[in-house]
Amino acid sequence: QASGKLYFVDAALLVGRLPARAQFGHKGTYGHALLLVGSRGKMGAAVLATQACLRGGVGLLTVRTPAVGYDILQTTCPEAMALTDPTPDFLSELPDLKPYSAVGIGPGMDKAATTKQVLEKLLREAKVPLVLDADALNLLGAAPGLLALLPPDSILTPHPKEFERLAGPARDDYHRLELLRQFCHDHRCYVVLKGAHTCLGTPTGDLYFNSTGNPGMATGGSGDVLTGLLTALRAQHLSPLDAALLGIYAHGRAGDLAAVHTGQAGLIAGDLTRFIGPALQELT
Ligand code: AMP
Ligand code: MG
Repeated sequence: QASGKLYFVDAALLVGRLPARAQFGHKGTYGHALLLVGSRGKMGAAVLATQACLRGGVGLLTVRTPAVGYDILQTTCPEAMALTDPTPDFLSELPDLKPYSAVGIGPGMDKAATTKQVLEKLLREAKVPLVLDADALNLLGAAPGLLALLPPDSILTPHPKEFERLAGPARDDYHRLELLRQFCHDHRCYVVLKGAHTCLGTPTGDLYFNSTGNPGMATGGSGDVLTGLLTALRAQHLSPLDAALLGIYAHGRAGDLAAVHTGQAGLIAGDLTRFIGPALQELT
């Protein structure tokens, strides 16, 4: 039975965790992220993750999408480099991982058999931090063999349904937190269990409850923004704990800042990306 401490994630807990930009920093200083995202009909998720990753301060960003995503990405996200997969509608080949300091996978992806092979190869070959979300988690949950390949210190960002596919059904909220502790301990990973009170589980059994965010964020694409942001923070060489804490707090804070302008009902995920900068600024 895993056990650990409980923490509340507020601005005070985050003091000193986000390094200031270095006066003589250049784009190489801030890492090169790779996102493996998108499929036909879900390129919006790829775009949102891309924009969030860029707003998270990464030095360089390369985005791997199916061929269907090339024009979309180059038009909507000129700051990112597009490295398209040869297959039209879903991901089928893992690119060379050498240039990258972190990899995020999942938003807008699908569960095609070749995409599963991409995930498996990534888990086997990656020597850099991973962030896994959405269908990457669903594939992971559907094939227990894959879970055994998960590199230590990976960050996973399931909502409760995705978490159930990974760890099994919870009887109630308390049981879900027990499952979270045990899962993070067993797989030596960091799990962001998303919801109104997002909770981060760590390999030591500690649980961190986030204090930011609002119901306006219960809208398609919110989670894709979080994945991009977390990938950016990991690419900048932050520890998995610091990246996860800063990421969940700044994501929720961006939602709170955006809602001042849009209201909660009017909030859409693209609004979150615009307030990542101001949310991070408050933490420096
Ligand atoms: P996803 O379901 O993958 O799109 O992720 C939804 C994102 O929005 C997560 O980061 C959640 O924490 C956040 N979110 C959803 N509903 C709420 C809520 N009622 N209050 C605060 N945050 C929320
Ligand atoms: Mg999601």
